[in-house]
Amino acid sequence: MALRATYLCENCGNNFDATSGNLMRSKEFRCSECDSTEYVLYGEVEAFDHKCKKCEGKMEVFNYPMCQKCKTRKVKIVQNLMMID
Ligand SMILES: [Zn+2]
Ligand SMILES: [Zn+2]
Repeated sequence: MALRATYLCENCGNNFDATSGNLMRSKEFRCSECDSTEYVLYGEVEAFDHKCKKCEGKMEVFNYPMCQKCKTRKVKIVQNLMMID
């Protein structure tokens, strides 16, 4: 289940909303460069090329979204907004 939440960056103090986590039928990948997300069906994960469509960075599994201001993932949830199946 994915969670939409408000995050606080522990590095620079930025507050931002982001969605993170796997959906019922698809797995979440995030770009290590720009944090763009892509949901890949579980049956298609092996064929996934792990390439970001926006910047050609590497798509990986991360537990946390990236702060767009300072590009770190030293973030924590301050408020849960919505659960998404
Ligand atoms: Zn930050
Ligand atoms: Zn990217």
